[in-house]
Amino acid sequence: MASTSSLALSQALLGRAISHHGSDQRVSLPTFSGLKPTGSRASASSRIIYSQLRTSHHRVCLLSRITHSLLVMSTTGQVIRCKAAVAWEAGKPLEMEEVEVAPPQKHEVRIKILFTSLCHTDVYFWEAKGQTPLFPRIFGHEAGGIVESVGEGVTDLQPGDHVLPIFTGECGDCRHCHSEESNMCDLLRINTERGGMIHDGESRFSINGKPIHHFLGTSTFSEYTVVHSGQVAKINPEAPLDKVCIVSCGLSTGLGATLNVAKPKKGQSVAIFGLGAVGLAAAEGARISGAGRIIGVDLNPKRFEEAKKFGVTEFVNPREHDKPVQQVIAEMTDGGVDRSVECTGNIQAMIQAFECVHDGWGVAVLVGVPSKDDAFKTHPMNFLNERTLKGTFFGNYKPKTDIPGVVEKYMNGELEIEKFITHTVPFSEINKAFDYMLKGEGIRCIITMGA
Ligand code: NAD
Ligand code: ZN
Repeated sequence: MASTSSLALSQALLGRAISHHGSDQRVSLPTFSGLKPTGSRASASSRIIYSQLRTSHHRVCLLSRITHSLLVMSTTGQVIRCKAAVAWEAGKPLEMEEVEVAPPQKHEVRIKILFTSLCHTDVYFWEAKGQTPLFPRIFGHEAGGIVESVGEGVTDLQPGDHVLPIFTGECGDCRHCHSEESNMCDLLRINTERGGMIHDGESRFSINGKPIHHFLGTSTFSEYTVVHSGQVAKINPEAPLDKVCIVSCGLSTGLGATLNVAKPKKGQSVAIFGLGAVGLAAAEGARISGAGRIIGVDLNPKRFEEAKKFGVTEFVNPREHDKPVQQVIAEMTDGGVDRSVECTGNIQAMIQAFECVHDGWGVAVLVGVPSKDDAFKTHPMNFLNERTLKGTFFGNYKPKTDIPGVVEKYMNGELEIEKFITHTVPFSEINKAFDYMLKGEGIRCIITMGA
């Protein structure tokens, strides 16, 4: 156990009590933003130590270290009881439950989630209309948090590390991980049907002994979650987790689809199908690449105003035209766009995105997640006429190797993240984030766990 003096010191520094809940030994870690020692409560020694720390960053690091040493001592190897938003049935509002989160096993990490957000992939699998239903389940895969403890064999992560859990992983050992071209790790590539951990197939979540399924190996709609260490990217601890949490899926997916896969040349035209967070991140990639024209295609006209902030200057709403979108775009661009990126998940939009690229050199990239029974139908002449069709998960980024660098792009001002965040809700109101997405309102809604 922590000594009384170190506990008192950290309580004084944190300005809040660290709560132990009887025998379950739960420790609530406060969020770090805006923490200051309160003059009246801090002891003389803590005030001296605190004043010697030059910057707020140093203070945050000290707080982080002290809090985590306490956390590690009190919860490592033990079951943690905490709040999680559980989906009991397809399409029904999530329910706040107290769950038990088992300690991380071999090659696993237990993470305290501080911020999470909702991506459309969560909604598809929660609705389970075109997907295999698996319930009860804890959804969520876009998030930021802090490592609480690590399991056997984890050498590259330690308690206190600031991390983003990622829905697809990097084992570092397979042919894909060794290839410069692929991020489709043999062991840890996205698997939407797995409800347990790779190590033993079991779930680390339970309620009164009843297991609750994981989702994408991340399950971030829980105050604590267990993730394979190959699905955890360690990032700059100075990066604000309430912003960079969206780098963990939507932002990197769209950005990488353009920068790493479509690769438009300077001055070229790019059509983006679907102007949600993923599509707007693809537009951000087109802007960074110096695209000459960025054309946004969406059925929801509310998206157009927001998209202007992302350099999208021309818009097509398929509902406003009698002719196929491919033809509308061909007429706007003298035969077709140079590149297109599809970010809708709608099979018709996928076909349109392919058929609207220019023959001879056009490249289309599919990003949206289709329904289980969808089939892509196009005439083979479209390929013979030298159009290329590609697809990508996670923007072709290798999660552990590349994602810290995407966070740095934000830290050095190349990437703008704030414009993606249109709503914030406390964890207890997570169902509001679903309502916003179902109504097509806003771009990303950040869910604050401690609130
Ligand atoms: P979102 O719901 O915020 O945005 C999707 C947009 O597509 C909406 O604005 C909607 O109006 C529009 N749309 C739907 N059907 C359309 C059509 N036929 N034509 C034109 N526009 C249409 O969703 P999001 O979070 O931005 O995610 C976008 C897609 O990317 C989803 O399918 C999601 O599952 C997928 N995704 C894929 C990956 C990957 O790695 N490949 C990762 C994350 C998300
Ligand atoms: Zn691998």
